[in-house]
Amino acid sequence: MYYEMIGFHGEHQGEHTADGVPEPQLDRSTLFLDFDGTLVDLAERPDAIEVAPDLGDLLAALSERTGGRVVIITGRAIEDITNYLQGFDGPIIGGHGAQERISGEIRNHEFADPETVRHLGEMATAFAATHPGLICERKPTGVVLHFRQDEDLAAPAYAFLRALSETHEGFDLHHSKMAYELRPAGIGKDVSMRRLMEQEPFAGTMPIFFGDDVTDEPALHWVSEQGGLAVKVGEGETAAGCRLGNPQAARRTLRRWIEA
Ligand SMILES: [Mg+2]
Repeated sequence: MYYEMIGFHGEHQGEHTADGVPEPQLDRSTLFLDFDGTLVDLAERPDAIEVAPDLGDLLAALSERTGGRVVIITGRAIEDITNYLQGFDGPIIGGHGAQERISGEIRNHEFADPETVRHLGEMATAFAATHPGLICERKPTGVVLHFRQDEDLAAPAYAFLRALSETHEGFDLHHSKMAYELRPAGIGKDVSMRRLMEQEPFAGTMPIFFGDDVTDEPALHWVSEQGGLAVKVGEGETAAGCRLGNPQAARRTLRRWIEA
């Protein structure tokens, strides 16, 4: 009801667009965008992605239209994601909510004890070194083992991180696309989103979220529940009301919004 009052017409209006995604009032919205698998195609290694040359311009235009309310919300560390977002100085939520960059300042979640994270990173690096094909991604707030290059390594990676999670209190094991990850308990994209949406300049605006992964589902569900616009990118079951086939289609929809 509230979002109808501010000019958002949800499903009904979506029926009239070619991609089935309704046209939101950007000046009254907050646009949360996942990165990998949503704005860029996944690659064999996290550092092998190819970023569309116009992505920076697209984000800048969206930021302008939303009054600075474009939020990149990613599993990557902020120190890592910023390499791919040259020219974007807006808010970023990194490490699935374990880090924030608001007004240019990076803050790590208090749950991510640096000593424990360093220890987890060293153990996982040593494990990956003895399992060729496993890629260890160390983050300031946790650690990831990617088995995209060899799916047979999924089971040993799971067993190893499972054992680590049992001996390191406060860190939970999560499954994402071709990867297992240890991250601080109690964090999540949905948790960060909810907190941000209570603060200025986000409070009172309509949440929009584009995400592709199983780890995005709680946030897609929350956005739907709020009457916002939840867009799933790619295949798979989802709580989102709209779907786009791939990152290219997602960028096309976003471009349509700024050209409208
Ligand atoms: Mg993703």
